[in-house]
Amino acid sequence: MSVDALAEALRASRYTVVLTGAGLSTESGIPDFRSAGGIWAKTDPMEVGSLAGFRDDPERFYGFWSGFFAGLGTVVPSAMHQLLAGLETRGLVHAVITQNVDGLHQLAGSQRVLEAHGNWQRTRCIGCGRRDRWEVVMARAAGGLPRCAACGALVRPDVVLFGEALGPAFGEAEHEARRAELFVAMGTSLEVAPVSGLPQLAREEGGLGRGATVAIVNRDPTAEDGAAHLLVRGELGRIAEALGALLS
Ligand code: ZN
Repeated sequence: MSVDALAEALRASRYTVVLTGAGLSTESGIPDFRSAGGIWAKTDPMEVGSLAGFRDDPERFYGFWSGFFAGLGTVVPSAMHQLLAGLETRGLVHAVITQNVDGLHQLAGSQRVLEAHGNWQRTRCIGCGRRDRWEVVMARAAGGLPRCAACGALVRPDVVLFGEALGPAFGEAEHEARRAELFVAMGTSLEVAPVSGLPQLAREEGGLGRGATVAIVNRDPTAEDGAAHLLVRGELGRIAEALGALLS
């Protein structure tokens, strides 16, 4: 584990962007959707994770997610979420790009968070586009289908569903990757395009054209390991602890 090298790179960089993935969420007790025993191995994502599935059968769609959230209970930010928020406060991290939709970075206190895949704590009206908090909308629906308070149309989760294009946050994420002197991808296997291309973009065009230093922090190997300048392998909780100590 080269946590020392990563701590040094964080101190040296004038603009650091961190990309996060499911590894952070699993440390907060949220199941990994894409792993071998994950949710998409047991439930058809086309039925409950796609816009077509939502339109075909919204009762089935909301039935699944209501059960999922009920089973999830309260989740709190992990040690790594907290470390990243603290590093932003100290000027050592400048933006977080996340593939996670759970809002835990904001809950930990991170300010500049680009949610490439949206946020499941919000709903969006399919009629007028109004956004609301998931829990408020679901409480008002009282077991029925959730509808917009403004126009009465159905609301959907404000996340990128299967088959949908990414929203404007991804354009901002690309901009951040080009700006980064240090780009750290953590807790992501870098398998889901187009977010998986951000480390390469940073490596080639980061630092405003000079090329960024790219670090990969993950428990398991990733597709980008061979091209990365720094590799830190291990459990994120332990790495957060070691990094926090080195940077304190
Ligand atoms: Zn509406």
